[in-house]
Amino acid sequence: MHAPLHPDRTINAYIDVTGSDRLERLRSLAEALTDSRVLHINSTATGGGVAELLRSIVPLCNDLGIDTDWFVMDATDEFFEVTKAMHNALQGSGPPLTEEMKATYRAVNEENAIELEGEATYDLVVIHDPQPLGLLDHLEATMPEAVIVWRCHIDLTDPTDEYLTFISEYTAQVDHAIFSRSAYVGDTAVPETSIIYPSIDPVTEKNQTLDAETVATERNRLDPLSFEDPLVTQISRFDPWKDQFGTLEAYRRASEDVPNLQLALVGGMAGDDPEGLELYEQVAEAAAADPNVHVLTDLPDSGVNVLQRESDVVIQKSLREGFGLVVSEALWKRTPVVGSNVGGIPLQIVDGETGYLVDADDASGAGERVSTLLKNDARRAKFGDNAHEHVREQFLLPRQLVELLGVIADEL
Ligand code: UDP
Repeated sequence: MHAPLHPDRTINAYIDVTGSDRLERLRSLAEALTDSRVLHINSTATGGGVAELLRSIVPLCNDLGIDTDWFVMDATDEFFEVTKAMHNALQGSGPPLTEEMKATYRAVNEENAIELEGEATYDLVVIHDPQPLGLLDHLEATMPEAVIVWRCHIDLTDPTDEYLTFISEYTAQVDHAIFSRSAYVGDTAVPETSIIYPSIDPVTEKNQTLDAETVATERNRLDPLSFEDPLVTQISRFDPWKDQFGTLEAYRRASEDVPNLQLALVGGMAGDDPEGLELYEQVAEAAAADPNVHVLTDLPDSGVNVLQRESDVVIQKSLREGFGLVVSEALWKRTPVVGSNVGGIPLQIVDGETGYLVDADDASGAGERVSTLLKNDARRAKFGDNAHEHVREQFLLPRQLVELLGVIADEL
């Protein structure tokens, strides 16, 4: 286990975006928790939505006076192969679960649990996603008093049975489970549950408003992308569920109607995702012949911000999606999104108001929607304004924090 670095945050920075009522509610919830110690555990410090959320939630809870730590599991490549198979299978398709895979999963969780023995005890531990669930074999002994909350961020609408049975041995032992949508609870063995929608942090480098000079600098850095010609973008880990090949197909369909259209496919490799590099290479190869397709990796947050802000349309052509923070990130920046009707995407895209929803297997339909938007400046501007308000009302961090602290306060 190691404690990743994260930036400082202060709750007062949110007053302009969420108003004082919600901040007062947060302060009063936090006041009741100032004697409590809370620990979050996940499996990567970088890449993907969970790390993104924890980088904001952990420092903000500390700013509110709740003693909160964040530990990331130390693990081998073999463990991450197993947990990526588990992630894929729980979202719908994966290889058979072998005894050897189960043994690897348990052994790495045991090693991490041993490292926790020297740590102070916590009143409440939040375990994020399935990777650290195996710690439960040991937490009863190391922290017998701690309340355990499982925070599931993935889409469990169609899980592979043997994997669900395996994780259910663990999830049945937690005190409370939090899902991103009620449809994900399904047959998972869990006691009490809550539904909390994720959120984006509006004051980070990725989501804050940028001055013209920063925008110009980042635009230059993204050369040879042109911001004069039409541009669509998808930003996602290189992961089969994000369907970068479907995005390419949608772009090709839209290019039939829109001259000089460009596509930016931006991605990163999360620390706990061994499939990323291989998929990146396949996507780069498929895009190589078209100079208008730009496959980019390792963009800084300010670069992601500028692309989400300056693209004409953002695409999110996922086949499964726990929530899809990237959708709200783009909508907040007034960029309409064409996305698949899966997971958390339909919560964020109001069809015909903030963007368009398409069936997950309909790449051509996605291309047609992109083309419709690109040809209609007034509609894009209207959708963009609607989108910003929709995210302000529903998907900003203080709302999620109020709900999370509500669960913690109820459990302690
Ligand atoms: N992200 C990024 N750079 C990339 C790819 C993704 O900064 O090259 C960020 C993205 O902006 C978002 C998060 O990673 O904040 C992805 O979260 P999301 O919920 O969309 O998907 P997940 O990766 O958790 O499935």
